[in-house]
Amino acid sequence: MHWLIRPDSVHALEDEGVKKALGRYVEVSKNKKLAKFIITKTIPIDVDLSSSDEELWKAHETIIKDFKKLEKEHDNKDIKQLKFPTKSLLDLKIELAKRILNKCRFCERKCGVNRFEKKRGFCNLDIQSRLSSEFLHMGEEACLVPSHTLFFIGCSFYCVFCQNWTISRHVEKGLPVTGSDLAKMVKKRRLMEGSRNVNLVGGSPTPNTHIILEMLRELDVNIPVVWNSNMYMTMDTMKLLNGCVDVYLADFKYGNNNCAERLSKIKNYWEVTTRNHLVAKKQAELLIRHLVLPNHIECCTKPIIEWIAKNFDNKVRVNIMAQYRPEFEAFKIPDINRRVMAEEMERAFNIARDNGLTNLD
Ligand code: SF4
Repeated sequence: MHWLIRPDSVHALEDEGVKKALGRYVEVSKNKKLAKFIITKTIPIDVDLSSSDEELWKAHETIIKDFKKLEKEHDNKDIKQLKFPTKSLLDLKIELAKRILNKCRFCERKCGVNRFEKKRGFCNLDIQSRLSSEFLHMGEEACLVPSHTLFFIGCSFYCVFCQNWTISRHVEKGLPVTGSDLAKMVKKRRLMEGSRNVNLVGGSPTPNTHIILEMLRELDVNIPVVWNSNMYMTMDTMKLLNGCVDVYLADFKYGNNNCAERLSKIKNYWEVTTRNHLVAKKQAELLIRHLVLPNHIECCTKPIIEWIAKNFDNKVRVNIMAQYRPEFEAFKIPDINRRVMAEEMERAFNIARDNGLTNLD
């Protein structure tokens, strides 16, 4: 059992709002249902993995169509009852991820570099994943802690206020890891220390999709997978994550493209991230974070809250966060060079209330 307990986490899994938005996660965390990646590993494939990209994607599409049905059939089984084929849907996903690395398009920057040839795109990563740290995080949302958090080096965003800039900007070099290394860490934290989930973050997990899928192939314990990201994945990456991720922990930052471009050097932010939030909700469960930025209530917080209320109607859990502090290059940018004021947080919560958003963390 874990020996560090945050008092509010003890009953967090019984919270009605948590159960409404993250009911399946709660059951997997308690070992009463199976994590999606385990079910994916039980699905056999008969496609030859040396087939063309087109054939592999076609096979993937055909199989994944029935995933929800299979999920229901397997839900209450014990992992020991399951039969695992020699080649599964997860192997197909791993092969497709490798193909993507030839011309990288894990995120919507779509750099197109061949990461096998040590070429690097915006995230500055070749195929080698590196870990800054991994530990039981006690500062996440109460329903997640203790959360076994893996911090990957590198990110597809350039947020001028990044709180983890030594990780995202490669100031830290990190420890080179394989999927197998990661699986051992996750198993140990789950069985020996009682982690509630594995929480994939960074930087960003997206450029490390290939290694994360390999980790899941090696992992033989039941544990919910939390994808903690900026939600800038391509549709191909979203397809690969379908059947592997239990909870999307989505960092919804901006309510318009101008702020995203100015503060994170990102194009088409709104179109991409809203699309991915909708896809994520169809695939899995969703916990949305919004870090309130000073002077960005009307341009960012308001449209985000309105969009969430309109599209999800309290079926997702939302965390409106006040802990912004200027970091990294934010000191040079007048509108975000201070903490958020109490009146701004009050306005943010009033917008949530006026829009009927009540499933708040
Ligand atoms: S993951 Fe990295 S290399 Fe790949 S498209 Fe995104 S930024 Fe470019």
